[in-house]
Amino acid sequence: MILVKKKIDLDNLLQSYRATGHRIGFVPTMGALHEGHLALIKTSKSQNDYTVCSIFINPTQFNNAADFEKYPITLEQDINLLEAAGCDLLFLPSVAEMYPVGEPVMHYDLGALENILEGKYRPGHFQGVCRIVDKLLDDTKPHTLYLGQKDYQQYMVVRKMTSLRNHQLKIQLCDTLREPNGLAMSSRNMRLSEADKQKAGALIDTLRKIEQALHTGDTSILLQDAKSFLTSLGFEVDYVAIASAEDLAPVADWDGEQKLVALVAATLSEVRLIDNIFLN
Ligand code: AMP
Repeated sequence: MILVKKKIDLDNLLQSYRATGHRIGFVPTMGALHEGHLALIKTSKSQNDYTVCSIFINPTQFNNAADFEKYPITLEQDINLLEAAGCDLLFLPSVAEMYPVGEPVMHYDLGALENILEGKYRPGHFQGVCRIVDKLLDDTKPHTLYLGQKDYQQYMVVRKMTSLRNHQLKIQLCDTLREPNGLAMSSRNMRLSEADKQKAGALIDTLRKIEQALHTGDTSILLQDAKSFLTSLGFEVDYVAIASAEDLAPVADWDGEQKLVALVAATLSEVRLIDNIFLN
């Protein structure tokens, strides 16, 4: 695996790959890699000639300074995992490389997507996500971008940003990888005790209960039950939602046809966790 820290070096390498007709797959990450990230690498490898991974803990997407400071860093292990997974190129830029001093801040018109669900609880988060992904796509110009369903709203936001910015690429949404108890793998899980990891399996259990109980008409009782259950276990629940899988608009009254996603965000022992599943 080639490790590159400067955009100019990345550009030189990728230009030569592109010029020879090779396909490039791109997996952006913030490091502290786990099997979920590696599954994206694996999918990219199966569909492209070269797979590029980036590791960059993007300061502009953290609305909470403590969360940024506590974000896990396991760089040496990440490099070993990427090497073992057969990743071709790791882009590891510095903050100064990605955010040159004095550069104007781009604003993305994300519409309603920006302020609902995660956007409501993490103001500014999606503008920060767009800023970094926009830059990384300019730098890598991949044929396909690989994103995980675990961050479904992020996928929707990035999809919108790529159309606003006219990035020519395909975006592939990849399944969420889970621990044996169903907990969605996440870099933040490293901050949970073993007991809390077990307890956090309740998030997916709750989403699956909603899936089983789903019926046409009013959805509010399902959400209330889900929230009460998680609160009784000691979670601080930001939201449990049933929304349109197309645009994440809340669905209070289901017609039995519309494609739905159920989403949850809750904090356990100061670790904020999110998850979602498609319902139908
Ligand atoms: P992150 O490093 O958390 O910013 O995630 C980088 C990419 O990996 C994003 O596209 C995530 O959606 C994806 N990802 C994170 N966790 C998982 C998981 N458990 N399964 C699949 N993809 C994931």
